Amino acid sequence: MSKRDYYEVLGVEKSASKEEIKKAYRKLSKKYHPDINKEAGADEKFKEIKEAYEVLSDEQKRAQYDQFGHAGPNQGFGGQDFGGFGGGFGGFEDIFSTFFGGGRRRDPNAPRQGADLQYTMTISFEDAVFGKETDIRIPKEETCDTCEGTGAKPGTSPETCSHCQGTGELNVEQNTPFGRIVNRRACPYCQGSGKLIKEKCATCGGEGTVTKNKTIHVKIPAGIDDGQQLRIPGQGEPGINGGPAGDLFIVFRVLPHELFERDGDDIYCDIPVTFVQSALGDEIEVPTIHGKVKLKIPAGTQTGTKFRLRGKGVPNVRGQGTGDQHIRVKVVTPTKLNEKQKQLLREFAEVSGETLGEEEGFFDKVKRALKRD
Ligand SMILES: [Zn+2]
Ligand SMILES: [Zn+2]
Repeated sequence: MSKRDYYEVLGVEKSASKEEIKKAYRKLSKKYHPDINKEAGADEKFKEIKEAYEVLSDEQKRAQYDQFGHAGPNQGFGGQDFGGFGGGFGGFEDIFSTFFGGGRRRDPNAPRQGADLQYTMTISFEDAVFGKETDIRIPKEETCDTCEGTGAKPGTSPETCSHCQGTGELNVEQNTPFGRIVNRRACPYCQGSGKLIKEKCATCGGEGTVTKNKTIHVKIPAGIDDGQQLRIPGQGEPGINGGPAGDLFIVFRVLPHELFERDGDDIYCDIPVTFVQSALGDEIEVPTIHGKVKLKIPAGTQTGTKFRLRGKGVPNVRGQGTGDQHIRVKVVTPTKLNEKQKQLLREFAEVSGETLGEEEGFFDKVKRALKRD
């Protein structure tokens, strides 16, 4: 049985940085976690991902793997259990982290901004209209307090990587049929960080960060709509080499309402009326997101007639006024009639002479069309 390449398993480049590997692992392990993914083979896939990550996340194992592949001197990377990682992730359906931007980096020791995080928050129709303050708990990378983010055991400090002299990159020479090619790639010994940690911090295992469930207070703005996002500065992942933290982006998913439909700041709603109400006119109560409102239905109202209730829609998220509520009248034809009702309707039809009082109405047009054939 041939084993798949670990880089291929995680879908990363051979030159991927430690962080890229971590991100790829998190994304995939979330996708194939047996608690979430019930598809056949997901379990196997999850194990494969775990195994690849176990090797590629460890400086020494990765260097060995790069050199010797699966058939290396240290066979049996696979199958080992490793603790700690991914623990906070499994059951969390809403969270996933993404890189925004990125690009190639030059100096591995330069301060860099932490990655941005994205969080999808599902809210009710009403909360989207009126806004709400709430707390969310998200698993989040935090700078390790024990080592203050260096990853080195307290009292020690990371050393400059001797393999790449701290540049984080190595020249790799390759003999190809077209001659010798020199490639620059991330140093496998320090994973492109330019630093080597001799004695790892026990708290974070040399990562410099720990995963914590963090509570973040969120003010959902009134008028937010499905798909819109809110940026919370500084609540993304911690910065690298003393750089600023990334931002947290909250993307809102608004649940549908059983009565109301929203389009921008306007709300649409169908209101049923009986054919007696529509014929004779009536004053009815209609629901709005702001409470009940009285509406006059004039005599002779047809199905599909629209009414507008000004200012009964959604407050604009940028504070520019409030939308309207649009009501579409639906005339409901009775389905269960008793004998007396049927008799009355027959009499009504007779008295109306089948014209229903219209001058040149819809019925007349249909009748004329029928006569033509
Ligand atoms: Zn630490
Ligand atoms: Zn190095």
